Amino acid sequence: MQKTESTEILIVGQGLAGTLLSYHLMKKDIAHKVIDVLKPGSASRVAAGLINPIVVKRVTKTWQADVFYPYAHQLYQELESFLNTRFYYPMLIHKLYGKDDAQFWQLRNEKEQLNTYISADASYDLPEGINNPFGYGTIKLSARLDISNMLDCYRQFLQRKDMIIEEELDDDEVEVSDGGIFWKGISARRIIFCRGSFDAHSRLFKHLKWNNTKGELLDVQVKGLELDSIVSKGVFVMPVGKQRFKIGATYAHHWQNLNATEAKLQELKEKWKVISSLQFTINRQLRGIRPTLSDRRPILTFLEDQPSVGIFNGLGSRGGLMAPYLAKEMLDQL
Ligand SMILES: Cc1cc2nc3c(=O)[nH]c(=O)nc-3n(C[C@H](O)[C@H](O)[C@H](O)COP(=O)(O)OP(=O)(O)OC[C@H]3O[C@@H](n4cnc5c(N)ncnc54)[C@H](O)[C@@H]3O)c2cc1C
Repeated sequence: MQKTESTEILIVGQGLAGTLLSYHLMKKDIAHKVIDVLKPGSASRVAAGLINPIVVKRVTKTWQADVFYPYAHQLYQELESFLNTRFYYPMLIHKLYGKDDAQFWQLRNEKEQLNTYISADASYDLPEGINNPFGYGTIKLSARLDISNMLDCYRQFLQRKDMIIEEELDDDEVEVSDGGIFWKGISARRIIFCRGSFDAHSRLFKHLKWNNTKGELLDVQVKGLELDSIVSKGVFVMPVGKQRFKIGATYAHHWQNLNATEAKLQELKEKWKVISSLQFTINRQLRGIRPTLSDRRPILTFLEDQPSVGIFNGLGSRGGLMAPYLAKEMLDQL
């Protein structure tokens, strides 16, 4: 006879959403297990990890920035201490102005009172190799999150605690009843799906209006470029190692497959040329699918007709900023 194990919560997916939800559950001593296989296309594994509370193009705060940013800033540092590693690097973003941007930034700053977040101070010397004909504005509260490293370290913690099941979950093998759920010898009070874009293909969540986007970005080496901040103009360039950078990212609402495309490579090369005339060599062209709903808001809920089934998803293009606080909100719903 198969042995039955029981737990409070089963989390499916160990991307940003599943990881941060698990961390919050762990802090509250709520028994849970995480089911995950590393599937190609998972957003968290390719994301650049830019934490930016400002919409650069419109010079305005992102949705709930005043709540999400301080919470994320504190939680990532706390998680670094817990895992005894570094993956969160506060870093300025320099928005390279176009011809009329300086005035636009000033007007927006006055209107929206953004002094906590941005500054027009251009005293920082951008390194040689960065084209800067019209000056720049600075986003002060921003960071780079090395998401892959964070997820790897958290996964090792889960492995040590025997809390991760490295298997693909098939929805048809989940038995849902009023009192909870049952999957492959494990009974749980609730199951929470955090499968990012993959949840769009589940019969459980077909009723949601999905609008996922494919993103591509380049991991490159630029000989001679010493940059310790992120620069942005049409695209961002983020330092991730010695003369190594990420350039991205692109958006596509329709795509054939997960392959790297020539069209997006050309798009990124053209945008790079505006920022720098230096040559780069490509290490990798990364691709992933951003889990997005058509209202571009996250979803944290339990199904009305099956209250033991939950979903935490829709992190879109700003998962790094939003996930820490939203994971706590999901926990509050339990
Ligand atoms: C190119 C690109 C660049 C981006 N850049 C940024 C950025 O700079 N800053 C930022 O904040 N956000 C960025 N994002 C968005 C960010 O990546 C997402 O918001 C976030 O990672 C979504 O996390 P998630 O946990 O919801 O989904 P995912 O990361 O997709 O995680 C889902 C997990 O579930 C697993 N899984 C799926 N199906 C199953 C199954 N049946 N059984 C078991 N496991 C399963 C997957 O393998 C994966 O591990 C970017 C995204 C892309 C694509």
